[in-house]
Amino acid sequence: MANQRKALVCGAGGFIGGHLVKKLKREGYWVRGVDIKEHEFVPTQADEFLLLDLREAHNCWQALSVKDGTFDEVYQLAADMGGMGFIHTKRAAAEEQREPAIDAYCERASMRGVERYFFSSSVCVYRDMEPGEPELTEADAIPAHPDNEYGWEKLYAERMAQAYARHYPINVRIARFQNCYGPEGAWRGGREKAPAAICRKVAMADEGGAVEVWGDGTAIRAFTYVDDLVDGIYALMQSDLEGAVNIGSEEYVPVNELVRIVMEVAGKDLRIQHVEGPVGGQARNFSKARIHSLGWEAEVSLREGIERTYPWVLKQVKQTRDEGGK
Ligand code: NAD
Repeated sequence: MANQRKALVCGAGGFIGGHLVKKLKREGYWVRGVDIKEHEFVPTQADEFLLLDLREAHNCWQALSVKDGTFDEVYQLAADMGGMGFIHTKRAAAEEQREPAIDAYCERASMRGVERYFFSSSVCVYRDMEPGEPELTEADAIPAHPDNEYGWEKLYAERMAQAYARHYPINVRIARFQNCYGPEGAWRGGREKAPAAICRKVAMADEGGAVEVWGDGTAIRAFTYVDDLVDGIYALMQSDLEGAVNIGSEEYVPVNELVRIVMEVAGKDLRIQHVEGPVGGQARNFSKARIHSLGWEAEVSLREGIERTYPWVLKQVKQTRDEGGK
């Protein structure tokens, strides 16, 4: 530990945080993970894992306190978070118990002498777009008009982190993630994102049956495979790039195309049944020039990513059935 760089991952019991811990271990770090809960699917690979509610200031201090000096890097991914259904229906309730301490974490980190602080933002900070619109750069998030409170909250937290960076001796890196997917993430229960939800629906459907898709399936999205995303997070953290940076794949597809790819990978011929449901923005198209300037590009195609994700979701579905669940 004495000769290793030390990293703290907040939200290490979650999807991206869990994969980031593995990445940092591969890079040779000593890693402490912190979360309000254990990881649901895999044992943590962190050297140490603390169960802490980071909304409490004293827990933030505990998370940041480490023997032999201080953390070199803090990655803040803890959030009360879910897919579009969660964001639209439960978000107001989540806001009420929102974590001011998590946003102010940066200040405490700098007081503990942390060199670098990473904040996980989202492309939900941008306004809705029309299909075919030219791409938005990071600067185009202002004037702001996100279509949900989650986007506003992320924008505010970005501003706070940048303000701390101006006033304290700490380097802040901010990434705006596009939709991320892969194994070991929420796949049911309302917190899952579209790729996991579609994989689950296809896995559960009987041959010749139907898959329900919210809206008309024409909304355009890019989905980033989680291994690519954590490589991007790491590249950004090591860089000199200040200000927000979009990270995501360049492969934009309508949601109907995502469903078609999942069905192909599953080898199932199903009907798509469009039903009413929260869709979010109609189109997305964001510049990746800043992250590409670091030599990072998403490498895993949507098809390859689904080929790695679908079998994992299928396994969860089968296990749940075997255990008597639905
Ligand atoms: P996740 O829900 O899997 O992980 C978040 C983790 O934070 C969870 O394990 C949760 O228990 C933990 N957490 C919540 N409140 C906490 C608290 N008070 N104290 C300690 N831990 C707490 O979500 P994820 O998909 O891994 O997302 C990680 C980050 O990336 C979040 O900030 C999210 O907003 C952002 N993001 C994710 C996506 C995506 O597609 N997954 C897209 C854009 C942005």
